[in-house]
Amino acid sequence: MPPLPDLIAPTAHDVVEAAHKLKGIAHRTPVLRSNSIDEMLGAQLFFKCENLQRTGAFKFRGAFNALAQLDEDQRERGVITFSAGNHAQAIALAARLLDMPALVLMPDDAPASKMAATREYGAQVLTYDPVTEDRETICQRLALERGMLLVPPSENRHVIAGQGTAALELLEEVPRLDYLFVGVGGGGLLAGSLLATQAAAPLCRVYGVEPEVANDGQQSLRAGHIVRIALPRSTIADGALAQALGPMVFDIAQREAEGIVTASDEQLVQAMRFFAQRMKIVVEPTGALALAGAWHGGMDVRGSRVGIIISGGNVDLPRYARFLAD
Ligand SMILES: *Cc1c(COP(=O)(O)O)cnc(C)c1O
Repeated sequence: MPPLPDLIAPTAHDVVEAAHKLKGIAHRTPVLRSNSIDEMLGAQLFFKCENLQRTGAFKFRGAFNALAQLDEDQRERGVITFSAGNHAQAIALAARLLDMPALVLMPDDAPASKMAATREYGAQVLTYDPVTEDRETICQRLALERGMLLVPPSENRHVIAGQGTAALELLEEVPRLDYLFVGVGGGGLLAGSLLATQAAAPLCRVYGVEPEVANDGQQSLRAGHIVRIALPRSTIADGALAQALGPMVFDIAQREAEGIVTASDEQLVQAMRFFAQRMKIVVEPTGALALAGAWHGGMDVRGSRVGIIISGGNVDLPRYARFLAD
């Protein structure tokens, strides 16, 4: 029998516990400032640089925290997951650090750099056709056959708690934030950030930011129930292509989030160029969602203290060069 998934919803306390588990293992990433963006928006912006996290994205936090909960027996059987990229690398590295086997199911059109990095961290990679096959079904079958634990990218108590530690660190370092913006795919980062805010800065208003063409979360919050959208394929934000929030994430977002706004591809490119030119940092399109949302999402942030989670920096270099050159 494979172990059962943990169906208990995470709390603010779980985020604090996760921070202890990650101490000395995940990087405490820097918080950067930029005078030019402060002047443009008439606000004070604080950038939490998870593009500089191990594996190049915040996902290492949730992955390691989830695997660190397992006992010897479960560690021996290993872990399985599905991911188009950053969660795959995160699980692969976390499994290696904890000496566990890892199997990662990736779409056959996943970015080459992400597939290669996942293999280099020591995971076995299997591919599937995202148009004709359902990744969760394949994953569940493999988990059953091999007795491996399925650790999904967002809908999991310890993954969500781990993701929340990025916001927790930011809120500890920068008190009295008025706003916090975070990118949204499956919603694990948003849910974790909401719990961290509950614990450390209850007055801070938290907004999720989705790509315009993948705004299932925004639709869900407006409708008051989970809305599932058709597979979005036409955005450069390849890390935020989820079709629906999971129930655990939706519940937390519904209760605690101020709202979800969207960003267009053009706005993401503008944000990536800003990061490269003014802040000298490489940010992937999905990693630029939070800034694009604060910049163009329609909130009046003037005079406020605004937290931005730069969620990742993994982008194939030729593709990155095209974004900067266009
Ligand atoms: C996964 C990911 C997101 C979205 O996080 P979710 O927990 O899926 O909402 C945002 N940015 C980057 C870089 C990611 O890898």
